[in-house]
Amino acid sequence: IDVRKVDDFENILQTKINGQSESVINTLIRSETPTRIDEVQAFNVFTNKTLTLIMSSYPYRDSDGRVLGACILLRNVTAETNLQTKYLDKSIESVTDPLTSLFTRRYFEEQIHKEIARCKATNTKPSIAIILFDLDKFKSVNDTYGHSAGDFVLVETANVLKRMSRRSDIPGRFGGEELIVIILNSTEIEAAFAAEKFRAAIENHVYEFEEKRIPVTTSVGVSLLKSFTETKEDVLKRADACLYKAKENGRNVAYLDFDQGIMKVKDFINQSKAQIV
Ligand code: GH3
Ligand code: MG
Ligand code: MG
Repeated sequence: IDVRKVDDFENILQTKINGQSESVINTLIRSETPTRIDEVQAFNVFTNKTLTLIMSSYPYRDSDGRVLGACILLRNVTAETNLQTKYLDKSIESVTDPLTSLFTRRYFEEQIHKEIARCKATNTKPSIAIILFDLDKFKSVNDTYGHSAGDFVLVETANVLKRMSRRSDIPGRFGGEELIVIILNSTEIEAAFAAEKFRAAIENHVYEFEEKRIPVTTSVGVSLLKSFTETKEDVLKRADACLYKAKENGRNVAYLDFDQGIMKVKDFINQSKAQIV
């Protein structure tokens, strides 16, 4: 058996927890009660390898209760930790669009589906609003300023949506240059205000790429789930019909699908205000 002094130990295995300078082994040796420290970053001086350890210390005492020493246990959890990190990365990857970091279609569709199921189970009226965005004349942004500029515009627009979203909103990439924000708890008028807020924010945002200013606007379609017997396809289809209407009517405008048909969001807001007054 190779017997070594504690001082030597650090010459073999350096043990630290995030950023702290004192070695974990010294901390453990001084502790008077059984102690466990997780996520210890250890460096094996001989093999030049970094390990993740769980370290525990069990002090032993003489009959008068004086600490004589400690039994220190090292558990090498490097493989498990690496695997966990890999799975975490993978699961984040599967819900995040690589270009914009917005939620993927798979993720937000699942959230709509879950919310419908929840309303069905509790017999409550759903309050899901869909705000669908399609960038105006985006092909000409690519053609005029280049594809990287197009990508830049998409990332910037995504950031505007993220910044203006509330915590419970789900901003996502619907596909290509089509983005979406799902509001899980919204009335018609709240959805109308939100859509107009996003549309105006995109119009007013300064997009500057390689010292060139790119004008960007977006058309918007808004719909709400009517009941839990509807599917996510139904509500998305109605938002898409509004989007089509917005494109037909000059772009850079939001349309809402509500109880009585399709209406320009600005008109809907004004009408609601008039009703309140
Ligand atoms: P409209 O106002 O009618 O929506 O016109 P548009 O030019 O935006 O419509 P269209 O659907 O014809 O063109 C969409 C373009 O978006 C075509 C496609 O090359 C571009 N696009 C889609 N995804 C990306 C992307 O990830 N990056 C870039 N740079 N362009 C993209
Ligand atoms: Mg499109
Ligand atoms: Mg477009």
